Amino acid sequence: MIINKQKIEPGENASVHIGVSELASGTKINIEAQVFRSKKKGPVMLVLGGVHGDEINGIEIVRRAVQSRMFNDIEKGSVIAIPVLNVFGFINFSRELPNGKDINRSFPGTSKGSLASRVAHALTKHILPLIDFGIDFHTGGGSIYNYPQIRVLKSDRKAINLAKQFSPPFIIKTGLIPKSLRKECSRRNIPMIVYEGGESLRLDEFAIQEGLSGLMRLMSARGYIKGDFKLQNNLIINGSTWVRATKAGLFVSYLKVGASVMKGEDMGKITDPYGHKEVVIKSKRDGYVYGQSNLPVVNVGDALFHIGFDTTFIEN
Ligand SMILES: [Zn+2]
Repeated sequence: MIINKQKIEPGENASVHIGVSELASGTKINIEAQVFRSKKKGPVMLVLGGVHGDEINGIEIVRRAVQSRMFNDIEKGSVIAIPVLNVFGFINFSRELPNGKDINRSFPGTSKGSLASRVAHALTKHILPLIDFGIDFHTGGGSIYNYPQIRVLKSDRKAINLAKQFSPPFIIKTGLIPKSLRKECSRRNIPMIVYEGGESLRLDEFAIQEGLSGLMRLMSARGYIKGDFKLQNNLIINGSTWVRATKAGLFVSYLKVGASVMKGEDMGKITDPYGHKEVVIKSKRDGYVYGQSNLPVVNVGDALFHIGFDTTFIEN
């Protein structure tokens, strides 16, 4: 395997640096990929975090997986682990790059484009041609807490199989966002799943542990590691809708994220600071709350609850 002119032989582990740009101070910015190769042939898995620089749970999941030596003695194939793709966002506490662009809306990217386009291009050029499948770790954005879930393209049977082997509490079947990593992988016929757990800029132990457990289940099911990792029960979600604020003010939720909800049920309330007016937010469907806003103050139209419906229960 050769990444950015660096050769990594079977049985070898190595760190590879891919230069993407520099800070205004002149400090060079690299993407660091840690590569683990078994002597035995097999598929190459990408374990990616920090596409959004403020989604720290994902970075922490990949870091802990590397530090716990999960990939060091794999039985076959190779693992490429990249904890932070968006280094700029990571040091600026930001989802995007300093120019305000989102890497996950910039694929496949070009070497002469915007910074986001260049970072996307580095992954597209150096890593995507090498991998057989992958998992991309995220959290909710914009103060949304996402209950641990895998998002997967509804028509991609191979990716759905990966999701089932990961076995998170929720598997959300979705479409593809234009210029996203998943879209580019789909174009290249690479099954790619996205894990979402917790909220940006917050470490959440539950979401981190669910991410690590799922990664171990997936690696065990695919024959990378030995061990009997029990699958969890899963809920597959085929449809979803947002419940949005109909009034601006203080938002108080009555629900715990992850809970089931009935049509017409009270989900929370929005009130002005003086207590003059109060509106109760009601669910418009039967379903499950798989994402919830932690914003204490909201504007009209802000997303409050992500409800999944049309569900299938898988007992494991
Ligand atoms: Zn994200």
